[in-house]
Amino acid sequence: MAEILLKNAYVIDPISGINGEVMDIAISGGKIVEEVSSKPEVIDCQGCLTLPGGIDSHTHISGTKVNFGRYMSPEDMRAGRTAKKGPMHITSGYSVPTTYGNSYRYSALGYTTLVEGAVAPLEARHTHEEFKFTPLQDSCANILFDGNWGMLRALEEGDIKRAAAIIAWTLNAVKGFAIKLTNPGGTEAWGFGKNVSCINEKIPTFDLTPAEIIKGAIRANELLHLPHSVHLHCNNLGTPGNFTCTIGTFGHVPDLNDKRQTLYATHVQFHSYGGTGWSDFCSKSEPVANMVNFRPQIVIDMGQVMFGRTTTMTADGPMEFNLYRLHHDKWSNHDVELETGSGIIPVNYRKKNLVNSIMWAIGLELALLVKNPWQCLLTTDNPNGAPFIKYPEIIALLMSKRYRDAEFAMIHQDTEKRVPLPAIDRELDWHDIAVMTRAGQARALGITDLGKGYLMPGAEADIAIYPIKTDEIDPSAEYEKIIQGFARTEYTIKRGRVVSRRGDAIIDGENTTFWVKPKVPAAYDIQHDPTFMELFERNYSVRMSNYPVQEEYLHRNHCIETETDL
Ligand SMILES: [Zn+2]
Repeated sequence: MAEILLKNAYVIDPISGINGEVMDIAISGGKIVEEVSSKPEVIDCQGCLTLPGGIDSHTHISGTKVNFGRYMSPEDMRAGRTAKKGPMHITSGYSVPTTYGNSYRYSALGYTTLVEGAVAPLEARHTHEEFKFTPLQDSCANILFDGNWGMLRALEEGDIKRAAAIIAWTLNAVKGFAIKLTNPGGTEAWGFGKNVSCINEKIPTFDLTPAEIIKGAIRANELLHLPHSVHLHCNNLGTPGNFTCTIGTFGHVPDLNDKRQTLYATHVQFHSYGGTGWSDFCSKSEPVANMVNFRPQIVIDMGQVMFGRTTTMTADGPMEFNLYRLHHDKWSNHDVELETGSGIIPVNYRKKNLVNSIMWAIGLELALLVKNPWQCLLTTDNPNGAPFIKYPEIIALLMSKRYRDAEFAMIHQDTEKRVPLPAIDRELDWHDIAVMTRAGQARALGITDLGKGYLMPGAEADIAIYPIKTDEIDPSAEYEKIIQGFARTEYTIKRGRVVSRRGDAIIDGENTTFWVKPKVPAAYDIQHDPTFMELFERNYSVRMSNYPVQEEYLHRNHCIETETDL
């Protein structure tokens, strides 16, 4: 593999404590090294902003529901078409692009690692197949356990170790990375046409509450020493007044891990709503952000909404049904036997719509009111709040009060009475943005040990060089330059190779998928457990022996083995 020497890079690398130093970076064998030996390819960065490769800790880019979003919206597929160019395949799709479309556009933004936010274990094979064709990024799959009958039964019996054993078997079988809970209990209830409205309400099919499922999964997660924490989509997404549920959930989270958070709560914008209905709908970002400020064991991501067309897609089947009843537009609904569900609805967030305007404000407020940027990461829950190509605009909004005010003047005029945004003066700086788009993600996901998220020797050479000279731009006033600068890297380097140059992919690239294999003692190897085997034989449409995803479905992959306390 060729060697590269980056000269005169203006580096911000929060994990290594570097905040704006001009330095050289040596790359060899796909890694950052102390020095290169022979005659390396030299790239003069000319003082441009150089960051570790971007990491999206919650996005939807691969698998069955993403694919369903594609063929459900031919109008979306017609948008965003690009022709074949060099090694680049034809792409199409705006909010739900083709796999290559996702990969090229993320790479143009400097992103090198993506976490698919929600994968039903039974359908994981499809996700892995699509990862393979998302070649310019490494990937991880969050595996849905919210309605997993095996795990729920174990939790019902109060047997956390058995729940952990089932999680371990499943993650290993489907080559997953982390535990995802989507509307825990509610999605399971939706299989019977029901939902839950409170974290302390018993779910209809098991003697459990959502709070008990969340707490049980958190303890199981820590018994398995998984790199990431439990990744939670709280109950009652999108419902006026749901902030009490969110705060109640955060209140249940213990502080169990000194290396990372104990709970990652995703797209919290959708969970910070006040009011008793749509008529008095308002922002409750302040109490939610305060709760995060007081609880270092919690990391959230924004789930920012941006105006325009997009597609919502989630395992939260009952929520999508409620959205369908509001919009009466296209709607897809899916139940995944014994595991979870999903729904898909195209939406158009409009500036003249009061509810949409308030949602837009709430996401920004969370990022500005959470004091520690390591605790609030930048996402749109792509494509739910907006397609990820909006990230540069979001960065500019966070760095410029003037830009926020200009946008605020364009949205629904009643928004001002319902949100605190106009009163917030904070403007994030370059370092904050580096934390919220890569360093924070790497730490929250627990992948710094794999060389992700920093730029010191030993790290993977995943690097984004932006055409931004920080001393020549006043982000507060020149927000257009921020948008332009983050929209297209000069160079995106992935595992030591330049994969994108000024927005175009220049090589085919190669994905690596990270997955976990907890080392479980024989007594907890659920593979031969008669009760678990019977659950499969009686209830699944798939034989237990056919369930695991064979390694040939993964292109390159890296297995993370963990010691367990079982
Ligand atoms: Zn999501």
